[in-house]
Amino acid sequence: MGKPTVDRMLAGFKSFKAIYYEQRPERVKDLVDMGQKPEVLLIACSDSRVDPAILTNAEPGEMFVVRNVANLVPPYEPDENYHGTSAAIEFAVCDLKVRDIVVLGHECCGGISALVEHAETGKVPDRDFIGSWMSMARSCVEHGPDVEKVSRHSVRNSLNNLMTFPFVRERVEAGDLTLHGWWYGMKEGILWRFNSAKDTFEQGE
Ligand SMILES: [Zn+2]
Repeated sequence: MGKPTVDRMLAGFKSFKAIYYEQRPERVKDLVDMGQKPEVLLIACSDSRVDPAILTNAEPGEMFVVRNVANLVPPYEPDENYHGTSAAIEFAVCDLKVRDIVVLGHECCGGISALVEHAETGKVPDRDFIGSWMSMARSCVEHGPDVEKVSRHSVRNSLNNLMTFPFVRERVEAGDLTLHGWWYGMKEGILWRFNSAKDTFEQGE
């Protein structure tokens, strides 16, 4: 039997430390002394196969990341509920003043599959939170039953929801914040990018 993953992760931290603390200590010192100044807010799925830093080769300090089930952005709803994703968006836009927001969807998403299955069969997940969380993408199932098509529509839906945040809309309209919809085709290793002018996803690398 191989080593448990947590043991390999501890060893992984040692090699991370060797790279950043021993080979590039000035970079770490800058990040500590100057604080973080990421240019990008990236909203990704919690799925273990779609780690944004691994997929994009980003370095510490470059991306402010929110991960949740199915990379969903809720609509702007300032109330007494616990809005983790909205709080992160607010901090990234209003305080860190990121220049770009990327919503990164992906192929084979379990959250989107559950959403489509619910729409097809009426079966409600036997869970306390996932059903109501996924319901914010409910309008996307009209593009089903193709899960991957629904998944890409969900990225568009999240981009639309981002524009319901007044501080996002204001900066987008002023031209100093850009929204991006990306979709990772896991099977072929293709990053699709949403072209809003053509209202379609186009194949990148
Ligand atoms: Zn997912």
